[in-house]
Amino acid sequence: MISALGVNQPTGSCDDPLCPYHGSLKIRGKLIEGMVEGMKSRKVITVRREYYFYVKKYLRYEKRRQMIHARLPSCVSVKVGSKVLLAETRPIGKNIAFVVLGERVS
Ligand SMILES: [Zn+2]
Repeated sequence: MISALGVNQPTGSCDDPLCPYHGSLKIRGKLIEGMVEGMKSRKVITVRREYYFYVKKYLRYEKRRQMIHARLPSCVSVKVGSKVLLAETRPIGKNIAFVVLGERVS
């Protein structure tokens, strides 16, 4: 199912229970595309999502951005600045409800 989403599949396997490919973590809900902004932690990365929001008063769009924390499974590797696909999961931590599926294939 995940193979149809246009991401680089992890080649190896892992024993990470919070992995959507090899663990027991289920994905449901939203799919979000964003840019990797920070990788200070090994298991959690920060992803920037940019979108346009329509402002009714001025009849124009304004650019908005959102920082999302996402769980990085140990078999998935990403680089800062690359485009990734996130999938919504159950809440993993206080501020984490997304998991990284992989780098986007362009
Ligand atoms: Zn895995």
